[in-house]
Amino acid sequence: MRRSRAIIALLFIAVLAALGPPLAAVYLAQQQGLDAEFNRALEYARVVVSRSDRAVEQMRLANALLHDEFSRNPGDSCSDQLLLRMQQLSIGMEFIKIAGAVRNNRLICSTLGRHDSGLELGPADVVTSNGTSLRYQSPLPTDENVPYVSLERLGFIAMTNRNQALDISMDREGVLFGTFDAFTNEMRTSNFPGNTNWVLQTQGVMESAFVDGDYIVAVVRSDNVRFTGAVAAIPIRYLNGRVQEFMLLLLPLAVIAGLIISFAIVYLARQQSSLSTQIRLGLKRNEFFLVYQPVVDVSSRQWRGAEALLRWRRKGGEIVYPDAFIPIAEQTGLIKALTERVIELVEQDLGAFLSSAPGFFVSINLSARDLQSDAALDLLLDLKRRTGADSGQIMVEITERLLLDPDRAAKVVHLLRSRGIHVAVDDFGTGYSSLSYLETIPFDALKIDRLFVEAIDKEAATSRVVLHIIEMAKTLGLKLVAEGVETEAQASYLRERGVAFAQGWLYAKPVSPERLIQHFAKSGDQPPTVES
Ligand code: C2E
Ligand code: CA
Ligand code: CA
Repeated sequence: MRRSRAIIALLFIAVLAALGPPLAAVYLAQQQGLDAEFNRALEYARVVVSRSDRAVEQMRLANALLHDEFSRNPGDSCSDQLLLRMQQLSIGMEFIKIAGAVRNNRLICSTLGRHDSGLELGPADVVTSNGTSLRYQSPLPTDENVPYVSLERLGFIAMTNRNQALDISMDREGVLFGTFDAFTNEMRTSNFPGNTNWVLQTQGVMESAFVDGDYIVAVVRSDNVRFTGAVAAIPIRYLNGRVQEFMLLLLPLAVIAGLIISFAIVYLARQQSSLSTQIRLGLKRNEFFLVYQPVVDVSSRQWRGAEALLRWRRKGGEIVYPDAFIPIAEQTGLIKALTERVIELVEQDLGAFLSSAPGFFVSINLSARDLQSDAALDLLLDLKRRTGADSGQIMVEITERLLLDPDRAAKVVHLLRSRGIHVAVDDFGTGYSSLSYLETIPFDALKIDRLFVEAIDKEAATSRVVLHIIEMAKTLGLKLVAEGVETEAQASYLRERGVAFAQGWLYAKPVSPERLIQHFAKSGDQPPTVES
């Protein structure tokens, strides 16, 4: 039941993992497509603005040139000389269709010749502060269908085809273009019934692109000629095409990535579950055993106790160390069964020995998970009762992780100590804890982690941590056990600072229970000194 639920959960996670990258790809393709189309629309609008700017610049220039000519020979603004000039300008400048002279809103002569009574132009649409008059719909006798924009200043006028700015060569159909007056926000020219909303909603912004209904819209205002702006709107169907392009590119990769991830998840989960199955089998086949690493008195080097360390002898004889299976046992809940086996093994290995060696203690590692329920505690109390061990002959080592739940930790420590089982904090200094728990929970010992002992003969900043730990333990009246002592220098450093106990390869590697007991029998002393 639990197993099938785990499999369903695993499949669910695998499917999610497989879907993740493709979903991300779809999202990405949409974003990329949108970005690309926004840029394209902005590009179109910029082209229109720059063409329109050029037209305005040329009209200004034409006016200035005509006025210069006139200033040199003042009098008749329709002299032969000026008429010739007008013709030259409309031929020589791309955007200038007609150049001419104006009096009282009437075109009196132009590129087209002299207009006897003058052609009525009507009032200007806009008159700027420097006296320039703009007309957005100048009628012309020659061609009434062509809409002209004109710019008049100091009696001269230049006209350009209104649609010329929009006349850009296009590889796409259905794109809307328009120019607008950036002062009034009114559309000037467009190849569609002008939508002033787009202009109004971007007021005060130089460039902007957005989606509106069926169009990707870009609005650009000229920073050159202050009264010109342009709109370009691309039908949304081009976006969909673009998204598909990106999708074709990204989706296959994303699907492959998703499959790889989900296969990896399934593979790892199966490996883990196969390892936990093997641990279960190993328990059934009695493949686990304990070795004991002596804990010595730092001054005399006599063996005062030992830490039980778990080993797994696989079928082929290979020995597996705890780092390879304890974490998975913790994750899968198998740690309970392992701890139960450890306690059984301690009883088998040292049960009789403990009552014959009252000064000797054995130390058992518990994992945080063991302490969530009372099962392990009950087994430990049974162990003590059945072996007849004295108070302090059985010690448990717990890591700081347990202290993430300080209430539970306090309860467990009180219970164990009240029954004569001592409690040490393992790997001290590497954990997550605030140190305040040390004052409120009455531990018996701290085991200084190997990391800090290693740092002793180096000039590392960590080396100072040992000193702090030693000071603190003294203040709180806690016993100290230094782990992983490998050199004489470390040993004398610890001895000089009053650390009572130590463990490490300098003194002894973990040994079999027979070897441990033999050591005491040989020396005949209790507890004896280590020879050589
Ligand atoms: P730990 O409790 O910190 O155990 C000390 C580890 O350091 C042991 O490794 C020991 O062999 C190693 N060691 C001892 N002296 C030295 C030394 O001088 N130098 C070096 N480099 N290493 C030294 P081991 O036996 O591989 O155990 C690894 C960890 O596995 C233990 O760390 C403990 O957290 C866990 N473990 C071992 N047995 C059990 C068990 O029965 N139950 C639980 N829950 N965890 C266990
Ligand atoms: Ca330990
Ligand atoms: Ca340790």
